[in-house]
Amino acid sequence: MWRKIEKKVNQGKRLNLKESLFLLKDFNLLNLGRLANQVREKKNSQLVFYSKNLNINHTNICINACKFCAFSKRENESGAYVLSLEKIIKKVKKIKPQEVHIVGGINPKLPFSYFENMLKEIKKVNSKIFIQAFTAVEIDYFSQKSKKSLSYILECLKEAGLDSIPGGGAEIFSPRIRKLLCPDKINAKRWLKIMQTAHNLGINSNAAMLYGHIETKEEIAEHLLKLRELQDKTYGFKAFVPLAFHSKNTLISKNGDSTSGIDDLRILAASRLILDNFPHIKALWMYLGLKLTQVALYFGADDIGGTLEEEEIVHSAGAPTPPSISSGELERIIKESGRIPKLINSNYQ
Ligand code: SF4
Repeated sequence: MWRKIEKKVNQGKRLNLKESLFLLKDFNLLNLGRLANQVREKKNSQLVFYSKNLNINHTNICINACKFCAFSKRENESGAYVLSLEKIIKKVKKIKPQEVHIVGGINPKLPFSYFENMLKEIKKVNSKIFIQAFTAVEIDYFSQKSKKSLSYILECLKEAGLDSIPGGGAEIFSPRIRKLLCPDKINAKRWLKIMQTAHNLGINSNAAMLYGHIETKEEIAEHLLKLRELQDKTYGFKAFVPLAFHSKNTLISKNGDSTSGIDDLRILAASRLILDNFPHIKALWMYLGLKLTQVALYFGADDIGGTLEEEEIVHSAGAPTPPSISSGELERIIKESGRIPKLINSNYQ
């Protein structure tokens, strides 16, 4: 099978479900990495992208109770918080990021105007700050709560300063897993619909996948093929972002806490080969650790994420990486890997 896959990849032909599964299950890891690296260098040469960004998690109060989430709290629980707009703007002024990344819980106390004003106020600090904000789950909630269409909500957010949407909330599209782990969350069809609507309005996004919990390889392959199918229609996804599950403080804590390095490299490399229409594959350093991130640059990844000041979500789940890193340090690890660092925003500009 691997000769056939290699031939297809070299001819620029698309891999089917059976071949995708083979990559996820049986393929020799070094052969897989070599092939993924070949595609990665063809698409992005020696470049490795990173950004200088500030993470804003405006609230951890959430009405959902996803079993893999260590971040959310109920309203009256100790540690529950909502950041005021003043506090958010103070952070932006202090850190002076080139980009902000905003995601939070589903907090019914916050009106839609809070989110619109947040974007407007950030742009007032510096109109050049690139804003990537609100997962499809949050956008769905804005639409449901205000009884307005998705297009209306997205237009309002765009008008207020939204530049792109993160890929979160996708988790794993499988209805089996969603029923078990996040029954309150929007289903795959709705997630894809929100992304399609955003792309049609000229708002690009990323697409994520949470792996390393109870999913099967078949469910991973199906997730990737669904993303590829939508990308064929819109070409609005900029990057695929596989997120390695960290189990500490979640309701599905497990031995070993996180995925193995072998799992992480396999997912990155297989994604690079399966998602032939995605320009970029991200290996987020705060999920993988700096050393494995360097290796990932030879297993299909061309982006390592940002400086990400004040990241809270994966660190609540026990990620052992520091909460932020300097841009100099990111450049160092890229150069040490023999690649060329390139500073960008989430639209790769
Ligand atoms: S993953 Fe998101 S939607 Fe689910 S409980 Fe956590 S904050 Fe809420």
